[in-house]
This record gives sequence, structure tokens and C-alpha cells, in this order.
Amino acid sequence: MEHVWPNTIVYLDDDKPITIGRAYGRVDRRLLHEELLKRCVESGVMYLSSKVESIVEATDGHNLVACEYEHVVPCRLVVVASGAASGKLLQYEVGGPRVAMQSAYGIEVEVENNPYDPSMMVFMDYRDYAKEQVPCLGDQYPSFLYGMPMSSTRVFFEETCLALKEAMPMDFLKKKLMSRLLAMGIRIVKVYEEEWSYVPLGGSLPNMKQKNLTFGAAASMVHPATGYSIARSLSEAPNYASVIAKILKRDYSKGFLTFERNNWNMSIEAWNTLWPQERKRQRSFFLLGLALLLQLDTEGSRTFFRIFFRLPSWMWQGFLGSTLSSIDLVVFGFSMFVIAPMDMKMLLIRHLLKDPTATTMISTYLTI
Ligand SMILES: Cc1cc2nc3c(=O)[nH]c(=O)nc-3n(C[C@H](O)[C@H](O)[C@H](O)COP(=O)(O)OP(=O)(O)OC[C@H]3O[C@@H](n4cnc5c(N)ncnc54)[C@H](O)[C@@H]3O)c2cc1C
Repeated sequence: MEHVWPNTIVYLDDDKPITIGRAYGRVDRRLLHEELLKRCVESGVMYLSSKVESIVEATDGHNLVACEYEHVVPCRLVVVASGAASGKLLQYEVGGPRVAMQSAYGIEVEVENNPYDPSMMVFMDYRDYAKEQVPCLGDQYPSFLYGMPMSSTRVFFEETCLALKEAMPMDFLKKKLMSRLLAMGIRIVKVYEEEWSYVPLGGSLPNMKQKNLTFGAAASMVHPATGYSIARSLSEAPNYASVIAKILKRDYSKGFLTFERNNWNMSIEAWNTLWPQERKRQRSFFLLGLALLLQLDTEGSRTFFRIFFRLPSWMWQGFLGSTLSSIDLVVFGFSMFVIAPMDMKMLLIRHLLKDPTATTMISTYLTI
């Protein structure tokens, strides 16, 4: 970890923060990269720096991974981990929801007049300082400030749009961040780093009948309603890898005719480990949530989170920490409905009756 904040806060529309009561950590990308490479070296992983053009199945059941410059790697089992845009190398279920986009523009800066307490990570600041400066686009593109005070003067600020049907223009996010900081009286003295981020949300699951496996964003492991994936990938990797290792240790060449061997999908066990029915149910609920978020403007987002943080803490903490079961999620949704104001209740009912993600969720929940 590069930095850990003992507590995390959220501002909605006034200066009284909601305390989340959980620590928040910032991963050091360089150290994580080094650590993962070290483990690969220790385990004898071979690395070829090349772009994969295609993966084809040979007649003997092996796969041929065709790379640039006509380099072909034959292998028994392929795991594609090429990120969100992996449609060229993998098949996905048809008829899933359209991919939405989380957009963010961030800067790590040295500032004067930082109002944030360095012991608190600012998960969401929805107070709209920039409203007057950028009036027309503000509501159409709801965004909030995500802030990591590294010290009292060094802060990472990020203007974030949680979910939109399309990518949000980066220029607009940058303009909104700058006018927000100006309105807050924060003066930038030095810029250390600037980052642009587009994280695709939702979309289809991989087709689990295919033999080639996948992991990470390519395996639709990005949380559809938050955009997070790293913690899930790191926590699920060891179990997934051990199932794959078990599959590879079995000798499928014995006791099978060539025809049977070619038609036998040895990856099924690994697919079921990555996406058991319970996980699919949870995801179908999150996709329903994502479709709802896409309909909210700035005020709607504030109302949504006001209700969210009024829930019992085990519920919203469990939602943010991805520890709620599919049944817990139904209780969560029902509780949101009960405490929502009338206009939000109407929106929730309309959403449940009309949005295609609701039908998908119900059928996923009913599948054993
Ligand atoms: C600025 C920014 C900030 C973010 N912050 C967070 C955060 O705080 N928390 C969080 O959980 N997520 C965050 N995300 C999202 C997160 O980075 C991604 O969800 C995550 O990187 C997905 O990991 P992955 O390994 O599956 O794919 P990627 O990280 O996309 O890695 C895929 C790799 O495959 C390679 N590749 C692609 N195609 C081929 C090919 N044909 N042949 C060979 N190689 C190929 C790519 O070059 C790349 O190296 C952030 C994203 C950005 C851009």
C-alpha cells in the first residue's frame, strides 16, 4: 500500500460528512507490478512480449496462440486476460446490456488552502461548487469529487462521473474539476501527475461454453456499479489458479477417443469457479442498479446516496465491500424502496417493471 487512510467520508449536499467507518488504501502501482513480476519469476513463468492476433483450436484439441510476426505458441489451456476490449479473442453471451462508461479526470497536486482532513479519504463529494461556473452541462453529466489527501498540502483530486451511457468528455471533467477547486478556494501550486480514466461497466458475461478461459476485466469482473475490479481479481486469483492447475494435472489424453477429447470442455470447472450461479445472481442485481444510476441526474444521484447511507450500516458497508449475498441484495433493494421518497419510489417501480435488466435479474435469480 502506498497510503492508508484510517477513515473514509462522503459529502452529499451539506458540509456534514457521512463517515463510512472503514479504512481506505491506495495501491502503489509500481510495487504491485514488481511484486507480481517477482512471483512470476520465482514460479518459472515464461514471458513473451507480443500482441496476440488470434487463438485457434488445432485438430488434436490443443490451442494455437498466434502472435505478431508469425510466432505461434501451442498450449493446452488458454487464459485470456487482455482487459475490457477482448471481443476479438473471446466470445461473449449475446443480448446482454450495453456497456456503460465510468469517466474520471484526476490530478495529484501541491496546493494551498486544502480543506480536507489528511486522515480522511474523500470517497465522494457531491457538493456542487462548480454549478454556477458550468451551468448547462452540470446536471446532464452528474459528477463528484474523489479526493485522497496525501498530506495537508499534497492531494489527489479526481472529478468522477460514476456511470453514463457514453464516455464523458474529458475536457468537460477537467473544466469542472478546475472550477470546483477555484470555487473552494484551493490554489494549485504544483502538478505532480495527471490521469484520465475510462472504465467500461456492465455488458455481457463471457460465453462459458468456450474452452478458452479468461480473467479480470475480460472476464467481466469489473463491478458494474462501482467500476472496481482490482481487489476482486487479487482475491480470486489464487483459487482460480489452483483450479486451473488441478485441471492441467489431470491427463485428459487417457481414456478418451480423439473425438471425445476434442468435444470435452475441460474448462467447465474453472468457469464455475469464476462465475458460479450465486455470483451471476449478484451481478444481475448490480446491472439493474447500474441501469438505474444511468437515469439519475445530479440531484437524483444525491437522493439515491442519501437513501443508501440511511440503510443499516451492515447493508451499505456490505454493498461497498461486495460481501452481500444475492438474498441480502434483495433485502437491500427492498429496504431502499421502503425509505425512499415518493418520487424515487415511483422511479424504482417503473425501473423494475420496464427495464430489461429487471427481467434478466428475475430469470437469473430463478435459475438454480
Ligand atoms: C486511471 C485509472 C484508474 C483506475 N482506478 C481503479 C481503482 O482505483 N480500482 C480499481 O479496482 N480499478 C481501477 N481502474 C480500473 C482497472 O485499472 C481495470 O479494471 C483493470 O486494470 C483491469 O485489469 P485487467 O488486468 O483485467 O486488464 P488491463 O489492466 O486492461 O490489462 C490488460 C493487458 O492486456 C494487454 N493486451 C490487450 N490486448 C492484447 C493482445 N491482443 N495481445 C497481448 N496483450 C494484450 C494490454 O496491453 C494490457 O497490458 C482504473 C483505471 C484507470 C484507467
